Amino acid sequence: MPHPVYIGLGSNLQDPASQIEQSFQTLDQLSQTRLVKHSRLYSSKPLGPQDQPDFVNAVCLIETELDPQTLLAALQEIEHNQGRIKKRRWGERNIDLDILLYADQKLQTQTLTIPHPEIAQRDFVLLPLAEITPGLLIPELGPVEDLISQLETTFVIPLALERQS
Ligand code: ATP
Ligand code: CA
Ligand code: CA
Repeated sequence: MPHPVYIGLGSNLQDPASQIEQSFQTLDQLSQTRLVKHSRLYSSKPLGPQDQPDFVNAVCLIETELDPQTLLAALQEIEHNQGRIKKRRWGERNIDLDILLYADQKLQTQTLTIPHPEIAQRDFVLLPLAEITPGLLIPELGPVEDLISQLETTFVIPLALERQS
């Protein structure tokens, strides 16, 4: 049985919007996986060092039969293939693919924490999640809209519509 999985995408190098579009396509082509839907593209300020370009963010819902660890390895391969180079923490990158939610599973290993530990703090994750799945329940935290209303500030804005296909 395929599992519903939400993926968070972010990019701030090498034409971020097309990096994200490319990842949507690659996710749809992954074995035992299909892309169900994706959000529009959002613009956000970097989390860490401020001397880097703004980010483009989005989320998508996939259905996959890959287990969480295999999926993480597949995401890291996509990041690598799109030219991601390890630089500073929270620094610039061609593409970042995070597992936000994997069905209603909770998981904590050396390499994988699900749900993503920062999900409730990140406007650039919560707003696109609410866009594609209104009422989405985040395990142990509640509906996505409640988490949005608890954010102190939101900076994320949809990218200009004319830039989206
Ligand atoms: P953040 O996790 O705060 O968004 P980041 O995405 O910049 O930061 P990375 O350098 O991309 O961090 O990843 C560091 C490690 O995080 C990965 O090697 C991976 O093993 C681990 N990790 C833990 N939980 C997850 C998850 N849910 N999705 C993706 N990676 C995860
Ligand atoms: Ca991340
Ligand atoms: Ca990551």
